[in-house]
Amino acid sequence: MHFYIMTLFPEMVMQGLNTSIIGRAMEKGLLSIDAVNIRDYAFNKHNSVDDYPYGGGAGMLMQAEPVYQAYKAVEGMIAGAAPNEPWPKEAKEDAFCQAESLKEAGKPRVIYLSPQGRTFNQKMAEELAQEQELVFLCGHYEGIDERVVEEIVTDYVSIGDYILTGGELPAMIMVDAISRLVPGVLHNDVSAEFESFQDNLLEYPQYSRPEIWHDKRVPEILLSGHHANIEKWRREQSILRTAKLRPDLLKKAQLTENERKLLSRDDKCDKI
Ligand code: SAH
Repeated sequence: MHFYIMTLFPEMVMQGLNTSIIGRAMEKGLLSIDAVNIRDYAFNKHNSVDDYPYGGGAGMLMQAEPVYQAYKAVEGMIAGAAPNEPWPKEAKEDAFCQAESLKEAGKPRVIYLSPQGRTFNQKMAEELAQEQELVFLCGHYEGIDERVVEEIVTDYVSIGDYILTGGELPAMIMVDAISRLVPGVLHNDVSAEFESFQDNLLEYPQYSRPEIWHDKRVPEILLSGHHANIEKWRREQSILRTAKLRPDLLKKAQLTENERKLLSRDDKCDKI
């Protein structure tokens, strides 16, 4: 999986993603992340990439042309120029030419991180993890000139109903969530593992050593070694926990008749 992140703050993105699981996956070659600095494509001598919005209003807007040229460079990188190497400014023209021949090969998905987009969730992460490459466009200031967004963006994605200063943290969140679904990135096979949001249920509670901590014991059943009983207990706990913490999710979950009965026993719900 190749991620390309178009941003004014490439160090922020790379530093944030270069550690732990994602960092190791990059070292192993399972993922590549290229942060493309939009400022490298500034077209004036002051290297500025923002300007006042027409019609007035507070704040500055990112201009269309640097974003467009950065995107053309990414298209060139995807065309196979040098996936893991930074794209030098001098090579801008070449990138443009290569990008022209890309048209037939199909456009990559270009995700604009925007509070106006669809809210990101696990299902979206699963869908996006099927792509070969993903391009992220991070806005800053008051956002980006609408014309370039219209021209290059295929998806608008928000990470929630609040306004941030830039799209960098949302892009990092999405790269993180998508990366851990790429085969080999986690030690275990995630697709076979139960995780929160699978089947619209939250994950069951988990415990590690020691067996007793602050006078609290690990539930006996988890020490029994009886796999079928453990699975049954975990499924029940998932249902009860979802009922308590995310009743909105539970409405979409498929439950058996017995599982529904479990929910009507209020005393059990109170124990979570
Ligand atoms: N004026 C814009 C907000 C600009 S915030 C509006 O009202 O819609 C500046 C940039 O931060 C945006 O261009 C976007 O890339 C990013 N951003 C802010 N909040 C976000 C969110 N909730 N999800 C994803 N990106 C966000």
